[in-house]
Amino acid sequence: HQEQLMQYRDRDAATLDGTQVMLRANVGLFSDVEIAHRSGASGVGLYRTELPYMARADFPDRQSQYEVYRRVVESFPGQSVTIRTLDIGGDKMLPYFDAPSEENPFLGWRSVRVSLDHRDMFRTQIEAILMASTHGHVKLMFPMVTNIEEIHACKEVVSEAQSKLHDEGWILPHVPFGIMVEVPAAISLADHFAREVDFFALGTNDLVQYMLAADRGNSRIRHYYDALHPAILHAIHHMVGVASRHNRGLCICGEMASDPACFAILVGLGLREFSISSPSILSLKARLSKLSIGQLRKLAQVALSQTRGSDIRSLAEDLLREPG
Ligand code: PEP
Ligand code: MG
Repeated sequence: HQEQLMQYRDRDAATLDGTQVMLRANVGLFSDVEIAHRSGASGVGLYRTELPYMARADFPDRQSQYEVYRRVVESFPGQSVTIRTLDIGGDKMLPYFDAPSEENPFLGWRSVRVSLDHRDMFRTQIEAILMASTHGHVKLMFPMVTNIEEIHACKEVVSEAQSKLHDEGWILPHVPFGIMVEVPAAISLADHFAREVDFFALGTNDLVQYMLAADRGNSRIRHYYDALHPAILHAIHHMVGVASRHNRGLCICGEMASDPACFAILVGLGLREFSISSPSILSLKARLSKLSIGQLRKLAQVALSQTRGSDIRSLAEDLLREPG
């Protein structure tokens, strides 16, 4: 079976009738890079930088961050690598980082909020990312953005970092600026945010938890945590419209995309850029090659008219079961 799948490794990901999609990899530790290559990933759509930070005993300085990022960037020559700034808090704290204990960590001091409260640390990370950008095609991405002030503040830190590097003699390429859409407020404000960013990345792991008020790690309420809940599909559909009206990039990097039923609906909704965990890439390519874009669009259209996630899943699974 695996051997059969390997024939897809160096093929473009496309539907039966030739609609292409980009399948990039989610990576964290460097060991993920090798797996991404073996799976034929077209670059990295989400590099979770907190993972190398978590695997250490102290906070890395700029040079060591640069070296870590550079190694990943250089592993994908000619392909883009989207580097996300530190996304700690919630369930991911750094052992050497002094953080308060909170009643609701996922609604608390996490992600870009932590970075913006530690400007020096934040700027240092951005400098390291910009330095790594001189070695390939880097995109810079900010997690858990909730309001426009955060976008402005992030941009300010980026331009401070750029000036500092410029003064040091670095010649920096253009680095696209993007935000993750993982809080419902970002969906509502997406038309405004679109004027501020080059691209959006849907972080559905968090978006689902925040839209449906269902903790992503709580098995007791797992049935509430449904990525195919109609409200989620409507939110994604809205984002496809925003991105296309404003001519902005739109990628999805939540785990839902590696579920074949979800993937089929997402392509049908118009998503063309995916970042997924590498082990799913080949089988999604194989599935996609057996379906036409017309079938997928129809599926998505019918899905959008449903009121139950379970019905949406059945529709998608019925289509996936249909013989070739
Ligand atoms: C997400 O929230 O969908 C996401 C990709 O980020 P993480 O899983 O790292 O929170
Ligand atoms: Mg997230």
